[in-house]
Amino acid sequence: MSEFDLIQRYFTRPTPSAELGVGDDAALLRIAAGMELAVSTDMLVSGTHFFPDADPFLLGHKTLAVNLSDLAAMGATPRWATLALSLPQVDEAWLAAFSRGFFALAEQYGVELVGGDTTRGPLNLSITIMGEVPTGAALRRDAARAGDDIWVSGTLGDAALALAHMQRHIILPTEVFAACAARLHQPQPRVELGVQLRGLAHSAIDVSDGLLADLGHILACSRLGAEIQLDALPVCDFLRGHLAEAALLRCALAGGDDYELCFTAPLVHRAEILQCASTLALPLTRIGKVTEEPGCKVYGSDGSELHIKESGYDHFQA
Ligand code: ADP
Ligand code: MG
Repeated sequence: MSEFDLIQRYFTRPTPSAELGVGDDAALLRIAAGMELAVSTDMLVSGTHFFPDADPFLLGHKTLAVNLSDLAAMGATPRWATLALSLPQVDEAWLAAFSRGFFALAEQYGVELVGGDTTRGPLNLSITIMGEVPTGAALRRDAARAGDDIWVSGTLGDAALALAHMQRHIILPTEVFAACAARLHQPQPRVELGVQLRGLAHSAIDVSDGLLADLGHILACSRLGAEIQLDALPVCDFLRGHLAEAALLRCALAGGDDYELCFTAPLVHRAEILQCASTLALPLTRIGKVTEEPGCKVYGSDGSELHIKESGYDHFQA
């Protein structure tokens, strides 16, 4: 199968909202008046982000989901994507499943695939996602303010629990593992939440590398600090019962791959934020507050400060 046939068969779908989609040297896109273009790229590399034999349908989903999560964290509405694929060989069953996983999620959010690149090489999946946000309304990392509440969506640590089980560091009960594995392999980007938080939140980030690491980016960009209450963290019942164990505490505070949103917002918006939670049927939990004093402090149930060594995943640190 030629490169052209492959693109035609697996990656060409109608793109009614683009002036020009797949097939020319570049796509042509028009954004609405009063909107800014939000652009982000995320790459998934075999052996680093997923096992080489990972289910291709779930990979198609996850490659797009992690990109949608970045736009959600900006409060942007996703519109278009490009896909750069490096493939060791043409495996049609793999491509068909990958493309189904990708387009199922793309259709859910009205995202159109408008271009990409396809080459032979080690398995590597990279998406550039584009979305729109009203001018000035994006949820930036540098816009937190002292006194803001710190919120997170959903639950934290589930994906890290699944990974720890797969790596045999811990053993989870079967049904707990099943629920956590779904979080790891098929993350749900919080796109609707990001859009609803425009005008309510001051700043936001998606939790991809662990809460402390990602919240740390907001704090560094905003030149502020935070106080977090361990008891307030939204974690699954299994994790709640084992937070005294260091390995499991790390899942909640430093575990990656949850793709929840962490955001800061002024106290006056508490009621509206809780209203978003009920509209979206997505728990939103206050876990602490932003402080003038730099550094992120975590307090246990007895009020004492915990000292956490690891804050999250970093590709360039051992
Ligand atoms: P060029 O040589 O001009 O870069 P290509 O042959 O790489 O063009 O790609 C032809 C067309 O197919 C372009 O419009 C490109 O955006 C699109 N394309 C290539 N790979 C993909 C892919 N994996 N998914 C979607 N579109 C793709
Ligand atoms: Mg090309």
